[in-house]
Amino acid sequence: HNQTKLLAITDQLTGLHNHRYFKEYFEQEMVRAKRYQKPLSIIMLDIDNFKAFNDTYGHAVGDVLLSSLGEIIPTSIRSIDIAFRYGGEEFVVLLPDTGLASAIVAAERLREQVRILSAGAMQEHGTSGVTVSLGVASFPDNASSCNDLFQVVDQLLYRAKRQGKDAVHFLPQSKEQ
Ligand code: C2E
Ligand code: C2E
Repeated sequence: HNQTKLLAITDQLTGLHNHRYFKEYFEQEMVRAKRYQKPLSIIMLDIDNFKAFNDTYGHAVGDVLLSSLGEIIPTSIRSIDIAFRYGGEEFVVLLPDTGLASAIVAAERLREQVRILSAGAMQEHGTSGVTVSLGVASFPDNASSCNDLFQVVDQLLYRAKRQGKDAVHFLPQSKEQ
C-alpha cells in the first residue's frame, strides 16, 4: 500500500482498518474461502454500555478507550486474523481459514483480554475498564454469502446485548468441527 491508500483504509482513532476496507476485504476473503473450500469466520464485538461511559467521563476519555481497543484487539488475535472498526463502538474481526469452533475460542479470548487490558489501559485516566459483547458466525456453517453471514453475526451480537452482555453468542453446532 502506498501512503494515500493506507490513509483511505485506516480508521484514524484506533489505527485499525475502517468500515470501507472491511467491505472490500470481506468480499475478497469470501471469494477465496469458496474457491479453496476453506471456512471463514467473523466476530462482531461491541463495547457494553459505551454511551453511559461517554456520558460519565466525557468524549475525550471515550476516545482514549476506543483507541486502546485499537491495540488490545489485534494483540489478542493472530496476525492473520484482521480487525476493523466497523463504526462507533463496534468492531469486526475476520478469521480466514477458521471454522466456528476455533473462532469461538478466539472470541472468548477477546472478551477476556478486553476486560482485563482495558482496565489496565484506563487506570491512569481514572476510569474502570469495559466489557464487550460478541457474536460469532462462520461460512459455510451459518451462511453462504457475505450479506447473510453478516446478518447472522449482527443478530447474534444483538442477542448477546439483550441477554445480559459480556458474552459470546453463536448458533448451536449440529456436527463436529
Ligand atoms: P500470532 O499467531 O499472530 O498470535 C498473536 C497472539 O494471539 C498470540 O501471542 C496469542 O496471544 C494470541 N493467540 C493466537 N492464537 C492463539 C491460540 O491458538 N491460543 C491462544 N491461547 N492464544 C492465541 P503469543 O502467544 O505471544 O504468540 C506470538 C506469536 O508466536 C504468534 O503470533 C505466533 O506467530 C507464534 N506462536 C506462539 N505460539 C505458537 C504455536 O503454538 N504455534 C504456532 N504455529 N505459532 C505460535
Ligand atoms: P487453544 O488456545 O485452546 O486454541 C484452540 C484452537 O482454536 C486452535 O488450535 C485454533 O484452531 C483456534 N484458535 C484459537 N485462537 C485463535 C485465534 O486467535 N485465531 C484463529 N484463527 N484461530 C484460533 P491450534 O492452532 O491447533 O492450537 C492449539 C493450541 O496451541 C492452542 O489451543 C494454544 O494452546 C496453542 N497455541 C497455538 N498458537 C498459539 C499462539 O499464538 N499463542 C499461544 N499462547 N498459544 C498458541
